[in-house]
Amino acid sequence: MTPRPPTPPAHPAGGAPDPSGSDRDDLRRRNLAAVLQAVHLRDGSTRADLTRETGLHRSTVRALVAELVRAGIVTEDLPAPSGGVGRPSPRVHATDATRVLTLHPELDATHGALVGLGGRVLARARVPHDAPPTPDDVLAAARELRDRLAPTGPLRGVGVAAPGLVDRRTGHVVVAPHLGWRDVPLGPLLAAALDAPVTVDNDANCGVVAEALFGAGRGARAVVYLNGGASGIGGSVADGGTPTVGAHGFGGEIGHTLVRSDGRPCHCGADGCLETEVSRARLLAALGDVPASELEPTLARVVAARPSTALAEIDRQLGYLGVALRTVVNVLNPERIVLGGFLAALVRTRGTAALDAHLARALPGAREDARVVTAALGADLLAVGAAQLVLRDVLADPLSTGR
Ligand SMILES: [Zn+2]
Repeated sequence: MTPRPPTPPAHPAGGAPDPSGSDRDDLRRRNLAAVLQAVHLRDGSTRADLTRETGLHRSTVRALVAELVRAGIVTEDLPAPSGGVGRPSPRVHATDATRVLTLHPELDATHGALVGLGGRVLARARVPHDAPPTPDDVLAAARELRDRLAPTGPLRGVGVAAPGLVDRRTGHVVVAPHLGWRDVPLGPLLAAALDAPVTVDNDANCGVVAEALFGAGRGARAVVYLNGGASGIGGSVADGGTPTVGAHGFGGEIGHTLVRSDGRPCHCGADGCLETEVSRARLLAALGDVPASELEPTLARVVAARPSTALAEIDRQLGYLGVALRTVVNVLNPERIVLGGFLAALVRTRGTAALDAHLARALPGAREDARVVTAALGADLLAVGAAQLVLRDVLADPLSTGR
């Protein structure tokens, strides 16, 4: 599916001729979309908030909310009296009726979640894999997760965060190096297996959308997300909660920008990529081969102690991350750079001084806009982002059935 930008509310033009029936339907659909989008981004908004955010008339918002209540998509409640003058404005909450199944296949397990409007994760489950899963293993896991998480009731669709390059038009995984997959039609296979509409995107694209809408990038106009994991550095870019990653969605691969011309060979075929110089495996080795679960406390101890070879490795990696971020700032002019995984652990324990030294040499204007923050959504990040692959179409036309 093609990503859609948020639907702006439509206002009947003053003095224009009466709109025709189909124009009125379109107007109503767009206004419903604007109200539900506002509830999605801030659950518990009051009707007064919705009136302000959509720019629609108060009575129009009241009628639109009533229509969404009748459809079972939202509920209203009255906050406790504040003692102020006038009646309190009812708060509008999304119900659990809009449900999306999300899937995230990884090396050791396929993770599933049931996600509702407002980025709420209603349930989670995982199916473990003894070896890197084949596409058939993931199909079997998907059926099991659907039966466990959503045995009854309708699903609006299935959103998949895939660990590889994804052709977003077709739902094909072009290559997933760590799973050993090449050109797997994952979206069509899952749609047939689950008898439901399926949308697939790269996991970093799901992460950037989740952080931009509900996490550390909330409210920022251009968000860059970089996640450091066991298999490398995933990257993506979003504007207004929509990934802006090129013609087929293959862009945003900041992990493969050149940071060192005499650097190590990368699995992508190039040398000196960010993810070969800034690597969790190299960091764990420098810290004395500690397990990944001990990474952050060990980093904190090393940083607090006197200078050591481990501290030198921490600073070397932060320096190369800074080289990449200077390019990111000059090319993309982000307002927020969100770091996740071990990149966040590096910044939380060592601070941003090494990054700031490089960012200070980015071009003026862009460098003043950029702020480096750590990811906020934790374990639910990819479920929230993958659900948005389906919810963006629900939000664009709230009363459609989706099938
Ligand atoms: Zn590379």
